[in-house]
Amino acid sequence: METKTYDLIVIGAGPGGYVAAIRGAQLGLSVACIEKEPALGGTCLRIGCIPSKALLESSHKFSEARERFAQHGIRASSIELDLPTMLRRKDHVVTTLTKGVDFLFKKNKITRYTGTGKILMAGRVLVEGAGEKAELTGENILIATGSKSAPLPGVELDGESICTSTEALSFDAVPKHLVVIGAGYIGLELGSVWKRLGAKVTVLEFLDRILPGMDTEIATDAKKILEKQGIEFRLGAKVTSARRDKKECIVETDGGEALRCDKVLLAVGRVPYTEGLGLDSVKIELDKRGRIPVNENYETSAKGVFAIGDVIPGPMLAHKAEEEGVACVEKIVTGFGHVNYDAIPGVAYTHPEIASVGKTEEQLREGKVEFRKGVFSLKANGRALALGDADGKIKVLADAVTDRILGVHAIGPHAGDLINEAAVAINFGASSEDLARTCHAHPTLGEALKEAALAVDGRAIHS
Ligand code: NAD
Repeated sequence: METKTYDLIVIGAGPGGYVAAIRGAQLGLSVACIEKEPALGGTCLRIGCIPSKALLESSHKFSEARERFAQHGIRASSIELDLPTMLRRKDHVVTTLTKGVDFLFKKNKITRYTGTGKILMAGRVLVEGAGEKAELTGENILIATGSKSAPLPGVELDGESICTSTEALSFDAVPKHLVVIGAGYIGLELGSVWKRLGAKVTVLEFLDRILPGMDTEIATDAKKILEKQGIEFRLGAKVTSARRDKKECIVETDGGEALRCDKVLLAVGRVPYTEGLGLDSVKIELDKRGRIPVNENYETSAKGVFAIGDVIPGPMLAHKAEEEGVACVEKIVTGFGHVNYDAIPGVAYTHPEIASVGKTEEQLREGKVEFRKGVFSLKANGRALALGDADGKIKVLADAVTDRILGVHAIGPHAGDLINEAAVAINFGASSEDLARTCHAHPTLGEALKEAALAVDGRAIHS
Protein backbone atom coordinates (compact mmCIF):
# COMPACT_ATOMS: atom_id res chain seq x y z
CA MET A 1 0.00 0.00 0.00
CA GLU A 2 1.18 3.45 -0.96
CA THR A 3 2.21 5.78 1.92
CA LYS A 4 2.56 9.50 1.24
CA THR A 5 3.31 12.44 3.51
CA TYR A 6 1.65 15.87 3.30
CA ASP A 7 1.67 19.01 5.46
CA LEU A 8 -2.14 19.10 5.44
CA ILE A 9 -4.63 16.28 4.90
CA VAL A 10 -8.18 17.52 4.35
CA ILE A 11 -11.05 15.04 4.63
CA GLY A 12 -14.04 16.23 2.58
CA ALA A 13 -14.10 18.49 -0.49
CA GLY A 14 -17.18 20.61 0.20
CA PRO A 15 -16.93 24.42 0.40
CA GLY A 16 -15.17 24.14 3.77
CA GLY A 17 -12.68 21.45 2.75
CA TYR A 18 -11.82 22.50 -0.79
CA VAL A 19 -11.38 26.16 0.17
CA ALA A 20 -9.15 25.15 3.12
CA ALA A 21 -7.10 22.95 0.78
CA ILE A 22 -6.60 25.82 -1.68
CA ARG A 23 -5.67 28.27 1.09
CA GLY A 24 -3.19 25.73 2.47
CA ALA A 25 -1.59 25.37 -0.96
CA GLN A 26 -1.44 29.17 -1.35
CA LEU A 27 0.43 29.32 1.94
CA GLY A 28 2.99 26.83 0.69
CA LEU A 29 1.74 23.60 2.27
CA SER A 30 1.74 20.28 0.47
CA VAL A 31 -1.95 19.33 0.57
CA ALA A 32 -3.98 16.17 0.07
CA CYS A 33 -7.77 16.23 -0.08
CA ILE A 34 -9.81 13.06 0.34
CA GLU A 35 -13.33 12.94 -1.10
CA LYS A 36 -15.57 9.89 -1.39
CA GLU A 37 -17.75 11.22 -4.21
CA PRO A 38 -16.44 11.28 -7.78
CA ALA A 39 -17.29 15.00 -8.07
CA LEU A 40 -15.68 17.64 -5.85
CA GLY A 41 -17.71 20.42 -4.20
CA GLY A 42 -19.65 18.54 -1.52
CA THR A 43 -23.33 18.86 -0.73
CA CYS A 44 -23.39 22.56 -1.67
CA LEU A 45 -22.20 22.18 -5.23
CA ARG A 46 -23.59 18.72 -6.04
CA ILE A 47 -26.91 18.37 -4.22
CA GLY A 48 -27.54 21.57 -2.26
CA CYS A 49 -27.08 25.30 -2.77
CA ILE A 50 -26.14 25.26 -6.44
CA PRO A 51 -28.68 22.87 -8.02
CA SER A 52 -31.45 24.35 -5.86
CA LYS A 53 -30.54 27.86 -7.03
CA ALA A 54 -30.52 26.70 -10.65
CA LEU A 55 -34.04 25.30 -10.22
CA LEU A 56 -35.20 28.35 -8.28
CA GLU A 57 -34.06 30.56 -11.16
CA SER A 58 -35.68 28.41 -13.86
CA SER A 59 -38.94 27.99 -11.99
CA HIS A 60 -39.03 31.73 -11.24
CA LYS A 61 -38.70 32.51 -14.94
CA PHE A 62 -41.51 30.05 -15.69
CA SER A 63 -43.88 31.56 -13.14
CA GLU A 64 -42.98 35.11 -14.23
CA ALA A 65 -43.76 34.23 -17.82
CA ARG A 66 -47.09 32.72 -16.84
CA GLU A 67 -48.21 35.17 -14.19
CA ARG A 68 -46.31 38.45 -14.38
CA PHE A 69 -45.38 39.15 -18.00
CA ALA A 70 -48.86 40.55 -18.72
CA GLN A 71 -48.27 43.35 -16.17
CA HIS A 72 -45.31 44.46 -18.26
CA GLY A 73 -47.41 44.48 -21.43
CA ILE A 74 -45.96 41.24 -22.70
CA ARG A 75 -48.45 38.72 -24.01
CA ALA A 76 -47.06 35.23 -23.97
CA SER A 77 -49.32 32.42 -25.01
CA SER A 78 -48.82 28.69 -24.56
CA ILE A 79 -46.02 28.85 -22.01
CA GLU A 80 -45.02 25.24 -21.51
CA LEU A 81 -42.82 23.48 -19.04
CA ASP A 82 -40.01 21.31 -20.41
CA LEU A 83 -38.91 19.71 -17.16
CA PRO A 84 -36.21 17.40 -18.64
CA THR A 85 -34.45 20.45 -20.15
CA MET A 86 -34.78 22.37 -16.89
CA LEU A 87 -33.21 19.46 -14.99
CA ARG A 88 -30.44 19.04 -17.57
CA ARG A 89 -29.60 22.73 -17.31
CA LYS A 90 -29.34 22.40 -13.53
CA ASP A 91 -27.04 19.38 -13.94
CA HIS A 92 -24.89 21.34 -16.38
CA VAL A 93 -24.49 24.20 -13.89
CA VAL A 94 -23.42 21.67 -11.24
CA THR A 95 -20.91 19.95 -13.54
CA THR A 96 -19.40 23.26 -14.61
CA LEU A 97 -18.76 24.19 -10.99
CA THR A 98 -17.54 20.81 -9.76
CA LYS A 99 -15.13 20.60 -12.72
CA GLY A 100 -14.03 24.11 -11.79
CA VAL A 101 -12.93 22.78 -8.39
CA ASP A 102 -10.97 20.00 -10.17
CA PHE A 103 -9.22 22.70 -12.17
CA LEU A 104 -8.45 24.71 -9.02
CA PHE A 105 -7.00 21.59 -7.36
CA LYS A 106 -4.69 21.02 -10.32
CA LYS A 107 -3.72 24.67 -10.48
CA ASN A 108 -2.82 24.66 -6.78
CA LYS A 109 -1.11 21.23 -6.98
CA ILE A 110 -3.47 19.67 -4.43
CA THR A 111 -3.43 15.88 -4.52
CA ARG A 112 -6.93 14.49 -4.68
CA TYR A 113 -7.76 11.04 -3.30
CA THR A 114 -11.08 9.42 -4.21
CA GLY A 115 -12.31 7.32 -1.31
CA THR A 116 -13.27 7.55 2.34
CA GLY A 117 -10.76 8.89 4.80
CA LYS A 118 -10.39 7.18 8.16
CA ILE A 119 -8.16 8.52 10.89
CA LEU A 120 -5.99 5.66 12.20
CA MET A 121 -4.12 7.74 14.77
CA ALA A 122 -2.95 11.35 15.07
CA GLY A 123 -1.03 12.11 11.88
CA ARG A 124 -2.20 9.03 9.96
CA VAL A 125 -5.19 8.61 7.64
CA LEU A 126 -6.27 5.58 5.62
CA VAL A 127 -7.96 6.21 2.27
CA GLU A 128 -10.16 3.44 0.91
CA GLY A 129 -11.73 3.88 -2.49
CA ALA A 130 -12.93 1.62 -5.28
CA GLY A 131 -10.07 -0.86 -5.45
CA GLU A 132 -7.66 1.76 -4.14
CA LYS A 133 -5.98 2.00 -0.75
CA ALA A 134 -3.46 4.51 0.49
CA GLU A 135 -2.05 5.62 3.79
CA LEU A 136 -1.37 9.30 4.27
CA THR A 137 0.73 10.80 7.02
CA GLY A 138 0.91 14.43 8.02
CA GLU A 139 1.12 16.78 10.95
CA ASN A 140 -2.26 18.40 10.30
CA ILE A 141 -5.53 16.63 9.58
CA LEU A 142 -8.60 18.73 8.84
CA ILE A 143 -12.07 17.18 9.10
CA ALA A 144 -14.55 18.90 6.77
CA THR A 145 -17.05 16.12 6.19
CA GLY A 146 -20.18 18.30 6.42
CA SER A 147 -23.67 17.05 7.19
CA LYS A 148 -26.52 14.91 5.93
CA SER A 149 -30.32 15.24 6.08
CA ALA A 150 -31.69 14.63 9.56
CA PRO A 151 -34.05 11.67 9.80
CA LEU A 152 -37.41 11.97 11.59
CA PRO A 153 -38.78 8.99 13.57
CA GLY A 154 -41.88 7.63 11.84
CA VAL A 155 -40.97 9.04 8.45
CA GLU A 156 -40.11 6.14 6.15
CA LEU A 157 -37.79 7.56 3.51
CA ASP A 158 -37.89 5.54 0.29
CA GLY A 159 -35.88 7.86 -1.94
CA GLU A 160 -38.77 8.15 -4.35
CA SER A 161 -42.10 9.26 -2.86
CA ILE A 162 -40.89 10.11 0.62
CA CYS A 163 -37.58 11.79 0.16
CA THR A 164 -34.97 14.33 1.14
CA SER A 165 -33.78 17.42 -0.74
CA THR A 166 -31.42 15.26 -2.85
CA GLU A 167 -34.29 13.51 -4.64
CA ALA A 168 -36.51 16.61 -4.62
CA LEU A 169 -33.92 18.27 -6.90
CA SER A 170 -34.61 15.71 -9.60
CA PHE A 171 -38.30 14.70 -9.55
CA ASP A 172 -38.99 13.50 -13.07
CA ALA A 173 -42.51 14.95 -13.05
CA VAL A 174 -44.19 17.79 -11.18
CA PRO A 175 -45.90 16.30 -8.11
CA LYS A 176 -49.66 16.79 -7.85
CA HIS A 177 -49.43 17.44 -4.15
CA LEU A 178 -46.11 17.85 -2.37
CA VAL A 179 -46.16 17.82 1.42
CA VAL A 180 -43.06 19.45 2.90
CA ILE A 181 -42.09 18.64 6.47
CA GLY A 182 -40.30 21.67 7.97
CA ALA A 183 -40.58 25.38 7.12
CA GLY A 184 -36.84 26.07 7.17
CA TYR A 185 -34.52 27.04 4.32
CA ILE A 186 -34.81 23.79 2.36
CA GLY A 187 -38.58 23.39 2.81
CA LEU A 188 -39.31 26.93 1.60
CA GLU A 189 -36.84 26.88 -1.30
CA LEU A 190 -37.79 23.51 -2.74
CA GLY A 191 -41.47 24.05 -1.85
CA SER A 192 -41.27 27.26 -3.94
CA VAL A 193 -39.68 25.46 -6.90
CA TRP A 194 -42.40 22.81 -7.19
CA LYS A 195 -45.23 25.24 -6.40
CA ARG A 196 -44.09 27.49 -9.27
CA LEU A 197 -43.96 24.49 -11.59
CA GLY A 198 -47.57 23.62 -10.79
CA ALA A 199 -47.68 21.40 -7.67
CA LYS A 200 -50.01 21.96 -4.75
CA VAL A 201 -47.64 22.50 -1.83
CA THR A 202 -48.47 22.10 1.85
CA VAL A 203 -45.77 22.90 4.41
CA LEU A 204 -46.11 21.33 7.85
CA GLU A 205 -44.15 23.10 10.55
CA PHE A 206 -43.79 22.05 14.16
CA LEU A 207 -43.30 25.60 15.47
CA ASP A 208 -45.86 28.43 15.39
CA ARG A 209 -43.75 30.32 12.84
CA ILE A 210 -41.63 29.72 9.76
CA LEU A 211 -37.85 30.13 9.44
CA PRO A 212 -36.85 29.72 13.07
CA GLY A 213 -33.84 31.86 13.92
CA MET A 214 -34.71 34.55 11.38
CA ASP A 215 -36.07 37.89 12.59
CA THR A 216 -39.75 37.31 13.48
CA GLU A 217 -41.13 40.43 11.74
CA ILE A 218 -39.44 39.48 8.47
CA ALA A 219 -40.42 35.80 8.79
CA THR A 220 -44.06 36.83 9.38
CA ASP A 221 -43.99 38.97 6.22
CA ALA A 222 -42.40 36.08 4.33
CA LYS A 223 -45.19 33.73 5.32
CA LYS A 224 -47.85 36.15 4.07
CA ILE A 225 -46.08 36.65 0.73
CA LEU A 226 -45.52 32.92 0.21
CA GLU A 227 -49.17 32.24 1.07
CA LYS A 228 -50.18 34.76 -1.60
CA GLN A 229 -48.15 32.66 -4.02
CA GLY A 230 -50.29 29.67 -3.07
CA ILE A 231 -48.10 27.78 -0.61
CA GLU A 232 -50.24 26.45 2.22
CA PHE A 233 -48.79 26.42 5.73
CA ARG A 234 -49.89 24.43 8.74
CA LEU A 235 -48.07 25.71 11.78
CA GLY A 236 -47.91 23.94 15.11
CA ALA A 237 -48.07 20.68 13.15
CA LYS A 238 -45.67 18.08 14.49
CA VAL A 239 -45.28 15.32 11.95
CA THR A 240 -45.35 11.93 13.61
CA SER A 241 -45.34 9.65 10.59
CA ALA A 242 -45.13 9.54 6.82
CA ARG A 243 -45.54 6.31 4.91
CA ARG A 244 -46.40 5.05 1.49
CA ASP A 245 -49.69 3.22 0.98
CA LYS A 246 -49.83 1.83 -2.54
CA LYS A 247 -49.79 4.86 -4.84
CA GLU A 248 -50.16 7.58 -2.27
CA CYS A 249 -48.34 8.84 0.79
CA ILE A 250 -49.99 9.43 4.14
CA VAL A 251 -48.58 12.04 6.47
CA GLU A 252 -49.81 12.19 10.05
CA THR A 253 -49.38 15.00 12.53
CA ASP A 254 -49.89 15.26 16.26
CA GLY A 255 -53.63 15.78 16.60
CA GLY A 256 -54.26 16.95 13.02
CA GLU A 257 -56.01 15.26 10.13
CA ALA A 258 -53.84 12.94 8.02
CA LEU A 259 -52.74 14.35 4.65
CA ARG A 260 -52.68 12.30 1.45
CA CYS A 261 -50.29 13.29 -1.29
CA ASP A 262 -48.02 11.87 -3.98
CA LYS A 263 -44.68 13.24 -2.71
CA VAL A 264 -43.24 14.08 0.69
CA LEU A 265 -40.10 16.14 1.27
CA LEU A 266 -38.47 15.78 4.67
CA ALA A 267 -36.57 18.98 5.55
CA VAL A 268 -36.25 19.10 9.33
CA GLY A 269 -32.60 20.04 9.48
CA ARG A 270 -29.26 18.39 8.96
CA VAL A 271 -26.93 16.39 11.21
CA PRO A 272 -23.12 16.27 11.20
CA TYR A 273 -21.58 13.54 9.07
CA THR A 274 -18.95 11.74 11.11
CA GLU A 275 -19.51 8.05 10.33
CA GLY A 276 -16.47 5.98 9.51
CA LEU A 277 -14.05 8.81 10.31
CA GLY A 278 -12.26 6.84 12.99
CA LEU A 279 -12.81 9.47 15.68
CA ASP A 280 -12.53 6.78 18.38
CA SER A 281 -8.93 6.10 17.38
CA VAL A 282 -7.97 9.64 18.47
CA LYS A 283 -10.49 9.70 21.35
CA ILE A 284 -12.60 12.54 19.94
CA GLU A 285 -16.00 12.59 21.65
CA LEU A 286 -19.03 14.14 19.96
CA ASP A 287 -21.30 16.58 21.78
CA LYS A 288 -25.01 15.85 22.46
CA ARG A 289 -25.93 16.94 18.92
CA GLY A 290 -23.32 14.77 17.25
CA ARG A 291 -20.94 17.66 16.55
CA ILE A 292 -17.17 17.69 16.98
CA PRO A 293 -16.10 20.10 19.73
CA VAL A 294 -13.18 22.38 18.78
CA ASN A 295 -11.21 25.16 20.46
CA GLU A 296 -10.66 28.71 19.10
CA ASN A 297 -8.07 27.31 16.66
CA TYR A 298 -10.58 24.75 15.31
CA GLU A 299 -8.45 22.05 16.93
CA THR A 300 -10.25 19.04 18.36
CA SER A 301 -9.28 17.32 21.60
CA ALA A 302 -6.72 15.39 19.52
CA LYS A 303 -3.56 17.35 18.77
CA GLY A 304 -3.10 18.04 15.07
CA VAL A 305 -6.70 17.08 14.23
CA PHE A 306 -8.85 20.07 13.24
CA ALA A 307 -12.52 20.36 12.22
CA ILE A 308 -14.60 23.05 10.49
CA GLY A 309 -18.02 23.61 8.89
CA ASP A 310 -21.19 21.61 9.47
CA VAL A 311 -19.43 19.02 11.69
CA ILE A 312 -18.74 21.65 14.37
CA PRO A 313 -21.21 23.96 16.22
CA GLY A 314 -22.67 27.01 14.47
CA PRO A 315 -24.94 27.64 11.52
CA MET A 316 -24.76 24.97 8.81
CA LEU A 317 -23.91 27.30 5.95
CA ALA A 318 -21.45 26.88 3.10
CA HIS A 319 -19.98 30.36 3.54
CA LYS A 320 -19.46 29.85 7.29
CA ALA A 321 -17.56 26.64 6.47
CA GLU A 322 -15.42 28.48 3.90
CA GLU A 323 -14.48 31.20 6.38
CA GLU A 324 -13.60 28.61 9.00
CA GLY A 325 -11.53 26.61 6.51
CA VAL A 326 -9.45 29.67 5.65
CA ALA A 327 -9.11 30.82 9.29
CA CYS A 328 -8.12 27.31 10.47
CA VAL A 329 -5.37 26.91 7.87
CA GLU A 330 -4.11 30.48 8.39
CA LYS A 331 -3.90 29.81 12.13
CA ILE A 332 -1.93 26.61 11.49
CA VAL A 333 0.56 28.35 9.20
CA THR A 334 0.75 31.93 10.46
CA GLY A 335 -0.73 31.78 13.95
CA PHE A 336 -3.45 34.26 12.95
CA GLY A 337 -6.91 33.75 11.48
CA HIS A 338 -10.33 35.09 12.32
CA VAL A 339 -14.04 34.57 11.68
CA ASN A 340 -16.50 37.25 12.78
CA TYR A 341 -19.50 35.17 13.84
CA ASP A 342 -21.57 38.36 14.24
CA ALA A 343 -21.35 39.04 10.53
CA ILE A 344 -22.40 35.76 8.90
CA PRO A 345 -25.34 36.38 6.59
CA GLY A 346 -28.19 33.92 6.09
CA VAL A 347 -30.37 33.86 2.99
CA ALA A 348 -33.45 31.91 1.96
CA TYR A 349 -33.61 32.10 -1.84
CA THR A 350 -37.38 32.20 -2.13
CA HIS A 351 -39.00 34.98 -4.11
CA PRO A 352 -38.69 37.50 -2.68
CA GLU A 353 -35.43 36.55 -0.99
CA ILE A 354 -35.21 36.64 2.79
CA ALA A 355 -31.86 37.73 4.20
CA SER A 356 -30.37 38.44 7.55
CA VAL A 357 -27.08 39.34 9.22
CA GLY A 358 -26.24 40.05 12.84
CA LYS A 359 -28.67 40.03 15.73
CA THR A 360 -32.45 39.78 15.40
CA GLU A 361 -34.80 42.01 17.40
CA GLU A 362 -35.64 39.02 19.59
CA GLN A 363 -31.97 38.32 20.34
CA LEU A 364 -31.35 41.96 21.27
CA ARG A 365 -34.38 42.02 23.59
CA GLU A 366 -33.29 38.74 25.19
CA GLY A 367 -29.79 40.15 25.70
CA LYS A 368 -31.32 43.36 27.14
CA VAL A 369 -29.49 45.45 24.55
CA GLU A 370 -31.04 48.89 23.98
CA PHE A 371 -31.44 49.43 20.25
CA ARG A 372 -33.04 51.73 17.70
CA LYS A 373 -34.76 50.43 14.61
CA GLY A 374 -35.18 51.83 11.10
CA VAL A 375 -37.47 50.18 8.57
CA PHE A 376 -37.95 51.09 4.93
CA SER A 377 -40.59 49.60 2.66
CA LEU A 378 -39.64 48.66 -0.89
CA LYS A 379 -42.95 50.16 -1.97
CA ALA A 380 -41.18 53.54 -1.83
CA ASN A 381 -38.08 52.38 -3.71
CA GLY A 382 -38.02 53.44 -7.35
CA ARG A 383 -36.03 50.45 -8.59
CA ALA A 384 -38.29 47.93 -6.84
CA LEU A 385 -41.34 49.56 -8.42
CA ALA A 386 -39.67 49.58 -11.84
CA LEU A 387 -38.91 45.89 -11.39
CA GLY A 388 -42.56 45.29 -10.50
CA ASP A 389 -41.24 43.66 -7.35
CA ALA A 390 -41.94 45.97 -4.45
CA ASP A 391 -43.17 43.47 -1.84
CA GLY A 392 -40.75 43.67 1.04
CA LYS A 393 -38.75 45.80 3.44
CA ILE A 394 -35.34 46.34 4.98
CA LYS A 395 -34.77 46.78 8.69
CA VAL A 396 -31.65 48.15 10.37
CA LEU A 397 -31.08 47.62 14.10
CA ALA A 398 -28.49 49.86 15.74
CA ASP A 399 -27.17 50.20 19.27
CA ALA A 400 -29.15 52.94 21.06
CA VAL A 401 -26.03 54.44 22.60
CA THR A 402 -23.21 53.96 20.08
CA ASP A 403 -25.35 53.69 16.91
CA ARG A 404 -23.23 50.68 15.86
CA ILE A 405 -25.19 48.43 13.48
CA LEU A 406 -26.12 45.21 15.26
CA GLY A 407 -28.41 43.55 12.73
CA VAL A 408 -29.95 43.98 9.29
CA HIS A 409 -32.92 41.97 8.08
CA ALA A 410 -34.54 42.14 4.68
CA ILE A 411 -37.16 40.63 2.48
CA GLY A 412 -37.28 41.66 -1.14
CA PRO A 413 -35.84 41.06 -4.61
CA HIS A 414 -32.08 40.39 -4.45
CA ALA A 415 -32.11 40.72 -0.65
CA GLY A 416 -29.43 38.00 -0.64
CA ASP A 417 -27.06 40.29 -2.55
CA LEU A 418 -28.03 43.42 -0.61
CA ILE A 419 -27.26 41.76 2.70
CA ASN A 420 -23.55 41.61 1.85
CA GLU A 421 -23.33 45.41 2.13
CA ALA A 422 -24.78 45.10 5.62
CA ALA A 423 -22.30 42.32 6.45
CA VAL A 424 -19.41 44.57 5.40
CA ALA A 425 -20.84 47.39 7.53
CA ILE A 426 -21.10 45.15 10.59
CA ASN A 427 -17.64 43.70 9.98
CA PHE A 428 -16.15 47.20 9.89
CA GLY A 429 -18.07 48.24 13.01
CA ALA A 430 -20.09 50.82 11.05
CA SER A 431 -22.82 52.94 12.60
CA SER A 432 -26.23 53.46 10.99
CA GLU A 433 -25.03 57.04 10.38
CA ASP A 434 -22.10 55.66 8.31
CA LEU A 435 -24.53 53.73 6.08
CA ALA A 436 -26.93 56.67 5.92
CA ARG A 437 -24.15 59.04 4.80
CA THR A 438 -22.80 56.70 2.13
CA CYS A 439 -23.86 57.77 -1.34
CA HIS A 440 -25.84 54.94 -2.93
CA ALA A 441 -26.36 54.76 -6.68
CA HIS A 442 -29.80 55.70 -7.95
CA PRO A 443 -32.02 53.97 -8.79
CA THR A 444 -30.99 50.82 -6.93
CA LEU A 445 -32.45 48.50 -4.34
CA GLY A 446 -29.46 49.40 -2.15
CA GLU A 447 -31.00 52.83 -1.60
CA ALA A 448 -33.63 51.08 0.53
CA LEU A 449 -30.85 49.99 2.89
CA LYS A 450 -29.59 53.58 3.10
CA GLU A 451 -33.15 54.77 3.78
CA ALA A 452 -33.59 52.14 6.50
CA ALA A 453 -30.35 53.42 8.06
CA LEU A 454 -31.69 56.99 7.87
CA ALA A 455 -34.94 55.75 9.43
CA VAL A 456 -32.99 54.66 12.54
CA ASP A 457 -32.77 58.37 13.29
CA GLY A 458 -36.24 59.18 11.92
CA ARG A 459 -34.75 60.84 8.82
CA ALA A 460 -35.78 58.58 5.92
CA ILE A 461 -36.45 60.84 2.96
CA HIS A 462 -39.03 58.76 1.11
CA SER A 463 -41.32 57.61 3.90
P1 NAD B 1 -33.94 24.12 9.20
O1 NAD B 1 -33.30 23.83 10.49
O2 NAD B 1 -33.70 25.39 8.48
O3 NAD B 1 -35.54 23.95 9.33
C1 NAD B 1 -36.14 22.74 9.77
C2 NAD B 1 -37.56 23.01 10.21
O4 NAD B 1 -38.21 21.77 10.48
C3 NAD B 1 -37.66 23.85 11.47
O5 NAD B 1 -38.51 24.95 11.24
C4 NAD B 1 -38.24 22.87 12.49
O6 NAD B 1 -39.04 23.50 13.47
C5 NAD B 1 -39.06 21.94 11.61
N1 NAD B 1 -39.38 20.63 12.21
C6 NAD B 1 -38.57 19.85 12.97
N2 NAD B 1 -39.21 18.71 13.35
C7 NAD B 1 -40.45 18.75 12.80
C8 NAD B 1 -41.59 17.86 12.80
N3 NAD B 1 -41.57 16.69 13.43
N4 NAD B 1 -42.71 18.25 12.12
C9 NAD B 1 -42.74 19.43 11.46
N5 NAD B 1 -41.71 20.30 11.44
C10 NAD B 1 -40.56 19.97 12.07
O7 NAD B 1 -33.52 22.87 8.28
P2 NAD B 1 -33.51 22.65 6.71
O8 NAD B 1 -34.43 23.55 5.99
O9 NAD B 1 -33.69 21.16 6.56
O10 NAD B 1 -32.03 23.04 6.32
C11 NAD B 1 -30.95 22.30 6.87
C12 NAD B 1 -29.70 23.13 6.98
O11 NAD B 1 -29.23 23.45 5.70
C13 NAD B 1 -29.94 24.40 7.74
O12 NAD B 1 -29.06 24.43 8.81
C14 NAD B 1 -29.67 25.49 6.76
O13 NAD B 1 -28.85 26.47 7.34
C15 NAD B 1 -28.94 24.81 5.61
N6 NAD B 1 -29.47 25.36 4.35
C16 NAD B 1 -29.22 26.65 4.05
C17 NAD B 1 -29.73 27.19 2.88
C18 NAD B 1 -29.45 28.60 2.53
O14 NAD B 1 -28.55 29.19 3.12
N7 NAD B 1 -30.19 29.19 1.62
C19 NAD B 1 -30.51 26.42 2.04
C20 NAD B 1 -30.75 25.11 2.39
C21 NAD B 1 -30.22 24.59 3.55
